[in-house]
Amino acid sequence: MISLQQGPGFRFNIQNLAIPTINPQVVLVELEVSGFCGTDLSLAHGYFGPCQPILGHEGVGRIVAVGSQCTSDAAVVGRLVGVGWIRDACGFCRVFSGRDVPGTLAQYTVVPERYITPLPEDVPSEMLAPIMCAGVTAFKALKVASPIQGSWVGISGAAGGVGSLALAYARQMGYRPIAIDGGERRRLACMDAGAEIYLDYQKEDNLRSALLLKTDGELCSAMIVCAGAVTAYEAALDCLDYHGTLVAVGIPPPTSKMSLHPLPLIDYGIRIVGSVTGNRADIAEAAEFVRKGLVKPKITEISLQDLEKYAGRVDELEGKLVVRLSSRAG
Ligand SMILES: [Zn+2]
Repeated sequence: MISLQQGPGFRFNIQNLAIPTINPQVVLVELEVSGFCGTDLSLAHGYFGPCQPILGHEGVGRIVAVGSQCTSDAAVVGRLVGVGWIRDACGFCRVFSGRDVPGTLAQYTVVPERYITPLPEDVPSEMLAPIMCAGVTAFKALKVASPIQGSWVGISGAAGGVGSLALAYARQMGYRPIAIDGGERRRLACMDAGAEIYLDYQKEDNLRSALLLKTDGELCSAMIVCAGAVTAYEAALDCLDYHGTLVAVGIPPPTSKMSLHPLPLIDYGIRIVGSVTGNRADIAEAAEFVRKGLVKPKITEISLQDLEKYAGRVDELEGKLVVRLSSRAG
């Protein structure tokens, strides 16, 4: 496993741990890969308070031991499963991977039987890892927005991990994705991910006017705002059509604020909602797009030893950072 020393100058140390022992209602998963996402970076920096020394919530691996009281059909040794952000829930509280329980940047992890998430066998595990958080978050945000088929859907922060997958899913779900981000490198990444139009917020004084110019006068039926910067929400609201929906996803920086007068919401029938990852059914649906080759996550695969070098650079990397934890042969 790799142990985190949390803080602004966070460090990772590789350590050997005993294989966890399991209680009767859990399974033991030997992980093949784990994604490393923006939330992990925020946890490492300490933005959300204390966290576990083992981060990670985009794990893919196989069940290697099953607790004596497990009864689910999914609790089978050898099954390929995913381990995501929500690791358990009881009543009003949710248990998050890497924050409340040890995460997936380890060779083994323990999963409650009712949170086993089976994954398709015929897809490389490194292609499924990004779906466990970023992919399902993007997919679920689009489901929550439920835009009109064939309509324009804006993705703000489109070059990031969630954003680029949102572009790919939007296109495959029958919408016309518009990427909003800054700079030429990000434009190329967005067009590559499936954007039909790119709007550079650094170059446009008025995103709404720029949008109307490129779409022959049409606005967006939904805006997915990924970890919005200070002005992103207001600009996104400005780009919405009548009855449009703004979906906030990701972990916005502490400075992100939404300030608005409610009248435009009332006049235009605008909805503002938030969306966090998705449930196991959403993961299965999102993974199906990857299995069919409709969505191909871009990844940068690294070893556990290289994590410290790459962790601070997740925003600059093209594609999702995926850490290999055991050999391909498994
Ligand atoms: Zn995540």
